[in-house]
Amino acid sequence: MKPRLAVIKLASCDGCQVTLLDLEDELLAIGEALDVAHFTEASSRFDPDGPFDLTLIEGSVSQPRQIPIVRHARAMSKRLVAIGACANTGGLQALRNWANHEEYLSLVYARPEYIETLAESKPVSELVPVDFELNGCPPDRHQLLEVITAFLVGRRPNIRSESVCLECKRAGHVCVHVAYGIPCLGPVTQAGCGALCPGKRRGCYSCFGPRENANTGSLADDLERKGLPPAEVARRFRLIYGWAPPFRAESARREKP
Ligand code: SF4
Ligand code: SF4
Repeated sequence: MKPRLAVIKLASCDGCQVTLLDLEDELLAIGEALDVAHFTEASSRFDPDGPFDLTLIEGSVSQPRQIPIVRHARAMSKRLVAIGACANTGGLQALRNWANHEEYLSLVYARPEYIETLAESKPVSELVPVDFELNGCPPDRHQLLEVITAFLVGRRPNIRSESVCLECKRAGHVCVHVAYGIPCLGPVTQAGCGALCPGKRRGCYSCFGPRENANTGSLADDLERKGLPPAEVARRFRLIYGWAPPFRAESARREKP
């Protein structure tokens, strides 16, 4: 029997699921190797009950109805992998974690009483243990393929823990931070995108989130030395991965008067 795969969506834009579909050259092989039991973005098959050998979960926990979905997915899955910024740290929608969500509701929706939402956008790992978290908004498709392959053959995914700076140097880009004074979060950001933004002479805004042991304090000091006010430095850390603990802590330190 083929291993059963589920792809589950919570609060998200579907970009991570589309990354899986973007594996055009490998998609047929994936379909042959796996029984795709539940993947509503791609298939009319509907089997949310499981059990599953591998579940990829996209999106943050933002509504009360998503809490039992996550708990059920954990209970029914041998391996549960959180893919993308929303599932890993709450995503861009976690910006509301610093605000009054009731106020946002009344500003955005004509009938806020119809909306059921949690006060905070939470990562999946805050509710249940996850076997792996793949960074990115969205993740790199080759890294996603490596994660699927690794869990199929029963090993840890081989995703190198390194910064965007290393990819940037390997690609031969001029450092936008040092050479042009453009603020760049590459030194504290997990690699995977191939240093896309510095390659276009733009600073990295960390859509792959903090790398392991990121020295956010040192980079933030340097950004201030280059003339960014502390509040602006805080804002730079408080974006797609703003609720990730290292970035959250750094933005809190910088916004203090
Ligand atoms: S441009 Fe950014 S990512 Fe590239 S080396 Fe400089 S700081 Fe690092
Ligand atoms: S923001 Fe950073 S991590 Fe995201 S694509 Fe640009 S360089 Fe890569």
